[in-house]
Amino acid sequence: MDLNQLYSEVIMEHYRSSSHRRQLTSSCLSKRGHNPLCGDDLTLQIKMDGEIIEDAAFHGVGCAISQASTSMMIDLIKGKNKREALMLVEKFSQMLKKEAGNYDMLEDAQVLRGVSDFPARIKCALLAWYTLKQIIEESN
Ligand code: ZN
Repeated sequence: MDLNQLYSEVIMEHYRSSSHRRQLTSSCLSKRGHNPLCGDDLTLQIKMDGEIIEDAAFHGVGCAISQASTSMMIDLIKGKNKREALMLVEKFSQMLKKEAGNYDMLEDAQVLRGVSDFPARIKCALLAWYTLKQIIEESN
């Protein structure tokens, strides 16, 4: 597989979609994720309702992989509690380490599995997920 195939339709669809690219105005948890290797610089915001992630959004600049991955993650985590969200982060990271397993719970984000063949891109794909993990851990 080459890098062109990696930019599959699903990835480009998420990359172009602007629904999650906005700033949350009400009080929320926020953290900047920076990947100097690529130049990805994204700020993730999440709004909690108790233990539940009620809303999430991001802004900043990043390559198609980092932005698509962020958008896919936001689709997944809305309505989930902190523990479920951390489990998704763990699953996603296992998938990129090529660990065997069932990744159905990652839904669209499964298309990013191909990124595991491109070490330089793994950090792009993981950026938002690790940022989310930090936000959750710091909020506990
Ligand atoms: Zn990148």
